[in-house]
Amino acid sequence: MTLRVCALYPDLMNIYADRGNLLMLERRCAWRGIEWRLHESGLGEPLRDEHDLYYIGGGQDREQFLVAENLAAKSEPLIEAIVGGGAAMLAVCGGYQLLGRGYRGFHGEDMPGVGLLPLETVAGDRRMIGDVLLECELEPGVRRTLAGFENHAGRTRLDADARPLGRVVSGFGNDGESGYEGCTLGRAVGTYLHGPLLPRNPWLADWLLAQAIAHRTGGEPPELTELPDELELRAHEVSARRAHARGGKF
Ligand code: GLN
Repeated sequence: MTLRVCALYPDLMNIYADRGNLLMLERRCAWRGIEWRLHESGLGEPLRDEHDLYYIGGGQDREQFLVAENLAAKSEPLIEAIVGGGAAMLAVCGGYQLLGRGYRGFHGEDMPGVGLLPLETVAGDRRMIGDVLLECELEPGVRRTLAGFENHAGRTRLDADARPLGRVVSGFGNDGESGYEGCTLGRAVGTYLHGPLLPRNPWLADWLLAQAIAHRTGGEPPELTELPDELELRAHEVSARRAHARGGKF
């Protein structure tokens, strides 16, 4: 099987080595004999809704400003791919913000969003920085933790009917107030967590891969063969410990 993956603006939206998330997914596919075909989608080309997994990393306000209008103009095929077609997506920080209705940056610049996720974001004057620990329940009854690192000025407010990715155990999360972090919709996940996120949280990497495979086959997300994950779980522990030591909030 070949997974078709689309990285959006990998040259511009790739802060804190967010690219590591793609490398992690690629390795986990290779170890399982799944072929990985990566398409890098830049400013100058149309977005095609033929991929199983879409990815967009974080960026400073400056890079977000460079891509926001271009991405918003591609909202139709992207929403069709995720909502209509059931493709998977991971969006990190600046990329997550741009999947909402819009982002007002630190200097008041208004950037349009894709309108895929039911949320909007406005930058505040203090950055929210540090290790984060979340508790997630993507499938009812299955609770797992996510550990990562956040650094954002944006405060993201979810609509009342939005599904957050997780509950904040330590850290700020979406806005430093609600107690929630990220947002999920169908097979799409948006989050502030860098790190990169997936090498510290192999279960989320496999969740995304299983969703992408389900899109590819038109069936249910499969049970993937287990991988040793010793280093990954140690990285998770270290990161979770740091987040605990940091505690919450401002
Ligand atoms: N520029 C955005 C903010 O500060 C996103 C930052 C990021 O991607 N790390 O909120």
